[in-house]
Amino acid sequence: MIYLDNNATTRPAPEVLQAMRPFLDEAFANPSSPYGPSRRVAHAIWEARAQVASMVEADPEQIVFVGCGSEANNAAIFSALRQRPGRNRIVLSSVEHASVRGPAAFWEKEGYELVEVKANPDGGLNRERYLAAIDSRTALVSVMLANNETGILHSIHELSDAAHSEGALMHTDAVQAVGKIPVGVTDLRVDFLSMSAHKFHGPKGVGALYLRSGEVPHPLIRGGEQERGRRAGTENVTGIIGLGHACSLAAEALGIMDTEVRSLRDDLESGLQRLVDKVQVIGAGAPRLPNTSSILFHGADAEALIALLDMDGICCSSGSACAAGSSEPSHVLRASGLADHDLKSVLRFSLSRFTRRSEVEALLRLLPAHVQQVRFTRPAVAAPPG
Ligand code: PLP
Repeated sequence: MIYLDNNATTRPAPEVLQAMRPFLDEAFANPSSPYGPSRRVAHAIWEARAQVASMVEADPEQIVFVGCGSEANNAAIFSALRQRPGRNRIVLSSVEHASVRGPAAFWEKEGYELVEVKANPDGGLNRERYLAAIDSRTALVSVMLANNETGILHSIHELSDAAHSEGALMHTDAVQAVGKIPVGVTDLRVDFLSMSAHKFHGPKGVGALYLRSGEVPHPLIRGGEQERGRRAGTENVTGIIGLGHACSLAAEALGIMDTEVRSLRDDLESGLQRLVDKVQVIGAGAPRLPNTSSILFHGADAEALIALLDMDGICCSSGSACAAGSSEPSHVLRASGLADHDLKSVLRFSLSRFTRRSEVEALLRLLPAHVQQVRFTRPAVAAPPG
């Protein structure tokens, strides 16, 4: 298998699996119990909390372990709105992940006003539009740090300042950014930040929420004193240990992401531009994650391309994993300024520090002929003008 879909999920690092293994076996004690084996598990959880905190330049007390990135996003939104009673506006970017849009839409039905701020034509953040949208009615501003489909980065610290000066809270979904670029809560000046272990070679089913105040006055899950009452339920100990180790390894590998992975990604893009005509890199002019490439193949049906690549043993995607299976065109690509006739002609390749050059070379060898075939047999729509 050639796996080029690392924004959907990543292969757990061998060191992560090794660190987790004892906690599936002899170190099985419940961390809340009053004896030695339990205290040792509780101590390991504390160490993982410190590893996660260090990854985002926070204090361990500011980290709450949760079940996934989606839970972190839901918890942040719920908590923020409850902390700002009397305010009824939620400001989001128009390219947020479903796990931010979903809860925001839920609260809209409960009476909140939802404002989705449009991106610039190149997919970048439009500062003026945000400043106009954030006002004294605003309870929460939530803008992702890196987009999962295009990899486009949002420079959010000014939005945090704008939110705070109006008395609102600021959340960022950093699920795709953590582990790929340096992320520091002090620079970002956010109140909440979400992350998820399986996006950077940790296990699935565990994430973390950073809280500036360290408090969750309104937890989503109640009925237990775990996480100091901020998230009830016996801890996913193995997952938490895996998340901690994944953070430490990813922190050491940030340099590799910025150099080797970025250069491999750039070679993938320039190779495709050289070998295939009518190809466009989405967000090419905007700051982007070093591992992500979202590429428009004018006039070719992306699902047909994915099926052909799949037969070669190459995995990639046409949109976010969560939107896969839905025939709806991606809201992110639409919001990034793509014309309707192009929305179903985009492939996303996402690399990791485990991606080998030979794998990218195999893609460059195989994909051009597939594009030619699909444009002939399964055009996405009538070819665009020009
Ligand atoms: N936010 C973004 C930007 C994502 O890409 C994803 C997963 O694709 C999530 C949140 C959800 O994370 P999880 O799969 O851990 O629930």
